[in-house]
Amino acid sequence: MLVSRESPGTRTSQFVRDVFSQVKAKNPAEPEFHQAVEEVLESLSLVIDRKPEYRKARIIERLVEPERVVMFRVVWQDDAGAVQINRGYRVQMNSAIGPYKGGLRFHSTVTLSVLKFLAFEQVFKNSLTTLPMGGGKGGSDFDPKGRTDDEVMRFCQSFMTELRRHIGPDTDVPAGDIGVGGREIGYLFGQYKRLNNEFTGVLTGKGLSWGGSLIRPEATGYGAVYFTAEMLATRDLTLENKICLVSGSGNVAQYTIEKLIDLGARAVTISDSDGYIYDEAGIDRKKLDFIMDLKNVRRGRVREYADRFPGSIYTAVADIDSGFNPLWTHRADCAFPSATQNEISEQDATNLVKNGIQAVAEGANMPCTPDAVRVLVDGGVLYAPGKAANAGGVATSGLEMCQNSARLTWSREEVDRRLHGIMRSIHRACRETSEQYGVAGNYVHGANIAGFLKVADAMLDQGLV
Ligand code: NAP
Repeated sequence: MLVSRESPGTRTSQFVRDVFSQVKAKNPAEPEFHQAVEEVLESLSLVIDRKPEYRKARIIERLVEPERVVMFRVVWQDDAGAVQINRGYRVQMNSAIGPYKGGLRFHSTVTLSVLKFLAFEQVFKNSLTTLPMGGGKGGSDFDPKGRTDDEVMRFCQSFMTELRRHIGPDTDVPAGDIGVGGREIGYLFGQYKRLNNEFTGVLTGKGLSWGGSLIRPEATGYGAVYFTAEMLATRDLTLENKICLVSGSGNVAQYTIEKLIDLGARAVTISDSDGYIYDEAGIDRKKLDFIMDLKNVRRGRVREYADRFPGSIYTAVADIDSGFNPLWTHRADCAFPSATQNEISEQDATNLVKNGIQAVAEGANMPCTPDAVRVLVDGGVLYAPGKAANAGGVATSGLEMCQNSARLTWSREEVDRRLHGIMRSIHRACRETSEQYGVAGNYVHGANIAGFLKVADAMLDQGLV
């Protein structure tokens, strides 16, 4: 609750507490959305007293209300001919600074609450990138895991048959997220193109031969590592020889590990929803190639890593009865949670701090619970919230949109250089804003406030819409 969550340097105003109470009353049974709003509102307490014009125009009350939510039935047939029914969504949260932009998530845990939290966070994240993109998010409770390519294609075609009415290159440009990679984007794009009879940049994360950008698959992971390097530099440290814990084994985790290898760090863990691997020797290029083939081509489970590389240890989720995740108990310098929301609890954060963790960068969205964040910040850890640390993905999606509009292709080096520059500028914005608002070095407040100001000013300029 906001009332009991005042941390040093912040004072939660009565006004902000009232707004949060209204959000909870108006959106019951949406715990993830409440969590994301609460974290941002706590930061905005620092702004609202200085800017009465925001309060008069009720900017904060408008920000927590999506501009539009679309929810629809997705019917498709599995390989056995049985009829399957899923639920599809698109949450169009805020378009003050550009067309809605944000990923699609296909996972059994997807609910309206999860997508509203992601869309809300996306508004501030996209603003931080400096590119003109509003915030949105969508997806379905369909889980591609265990489905054949044909089944995934039929689902994607049915999903896009409805979604196409609500998106467009100047309206809303979805991308991938959990369960939506290159394969799914291909099927979705193909169906959009067929129904609309136009070849446009309506999705990002496309294949290279049909409008995709170099470095887009790598961007979120690379960006999280670039951001961490910037944070460490503020303490005269580098990533060289640092031991790193990584969770997840999908897109973000894979390219986080790749960049860590490039910079001389040693990643020692990966995970999926069934369990995790600890490899003390470190994941080198050869082992990473194995993970990429396992996850992206064979679509297998991380347990196979332990069979292939002796010396590594697999722990199944089913065998964990400790009440905390043992992945976060290994001694390390940096942690990159890159799987899903709320995967680091207060106890996990306590374990990380006890073992001397220096930096935590959220590759995933909201992987730390609010209590975990407090433990990390109070413990003096360099803690980068997902809005800042994983913004490289959507930033490079923005670069893909630029290339599509201009009908040209930038080289790998050019896109990587721009991505690196954007991550540096996000880091600088977070630090400078935290200093301006009296909470120097607090990346949570820095990211929330810097992201908010640009959107809020645009909303003021555009009147009551
Ligand atoms: P992905 O390729 O689908 O990989 C997700 C990974 O997380 C998989 O290893 C998956 O394991 C694991 N996972 C998912 N849900 C889980 C759960 N409930 N419990 C335990 N493990 C779970 O997805 P991704 O693109 O890497 O996304 C990972 C995170 O990064 C998400 O929070 C996403 O929102 C965030 N993110 C992604 C991007 C991007 O560009 N892709 C950008 C910004 C932020 P299983 O295979 O066993 O489910």
